[in-house]
Amino acid sequence: MLLRRAVLIVAITALAALLSPLSAQAAPKSASGPTCNLPESDAEALVILNNYYPGYWWDHTDLTVYVQAEPGISQEYLDAIDDAIATWGAVLEDCFDGLITLTQVDSRQDADIVVHYVAHAGGAVFSGYAVCGDHGCPNILVSSEAPPSWGQEPYSPELLGWITLHELGHALGLGHATNLLESTDLMGYGWPDLGDPVLSQCDVNALAFVFAWALEGAEPYPPAEGPYVC
Ligand SMILES: [Zn+2]
Repeated sequence: MLLRRAVLIVAITALAALLSPLSAQAAPKSASGPTCNLPESDAEALVILNNYYPGYWWDHTDLTVYVQAEPGISQEYLDAIDDAIATWGAVLEDCFDGLITLTQVDSRQDADIVVHYVAHAGGAVFSGYAVCGDHGCPNILVSSEAPPSWGQEPYSPELLGWITLHELGHALGLGHATNLLESTDLMGYGWPDLGDPVLSQCDVNALAFVFAWALEGAEPYPPAEGPYVC
């Protein structure tokens, strides 16, 4: 449900901009920050993954993702993963006007990010990891995690979609919310027990912090020291 809603919000935002020249004037496109208007979350700050994995940052912005799923995984789960990738793709497009993109590709060789999906009897285990950028980072396991509140087995397609959104946040360079257990931010562990996850303005602003070089039009350089305060 959330995935469709998130896409819908993006569509409505775009429509509102078309219908209202005043709002378009009030929010001029800036080279220095995201141009979207996403919901706020209760995250206090977001950890910057690069601060803990120094080799891990992207030196290009046209990022690609490949889904590697075991045979026999039902279509509704595959759809949930695809929807999550599409949701991040739409959010990035809305927020960075094409400067930072996430595109699903059909070949693992061409992919910056590989999403693994492995089914177990009666449940599912998910992990996501990113492979090297051009700067030669080591392969890094972004996450293979199962926080307490996610321990529902078997995962519903909706929960798998949310987890995929979270893992893709890691793959893009975001760490967790500093108020981890309480936060329903996408990068927190508070959901789904405390509410649906929020792909928030802070998530996107933190990505602007991670990709500062790209927004400045500079040569690639690693992210600055975080955490990024929401
Ligand atoms: Zn995580």
